[in-house]
Amino acid sequence: MADFKKRLSQNVDGEFFVDSTCVNCDTCRQLAPATFGDTGDYAYVRAQPVTEVEAAECSSGAVVLPGHGQRMRLSSALRSATSRR
Ligand code: SF4
Repeated sequence: MADFKKRLSQNVDGEFFVDSTCVNCDTCRQLAPATFGDTGDYAYVRAQPVTEVEAAECSSGAVVLPGHGQRMRLSSALRSATSRR
């Protein structure tokens, strides 16, 4: 699991962030392009997910890549989205 102490400074404030263990595999940017950007060396959260679709895209990334560079703290938006399934 990602470490808040290794959180990249490029992330916007919020529940989701990428830490320095990111291997820049590009998966999160492909799954959630509105949320994740590219620093050149790492992914970073450029915008926190707002819509249920964006939150679900981030959740899919967490399932695909457990234990990778993203920290997936469940935000209220994500809990709301997942509780309706
Ligand atoms: S945060 Fe995770 S999914 Fe995104 S580029 Fe880094 S390792 Fe890949």
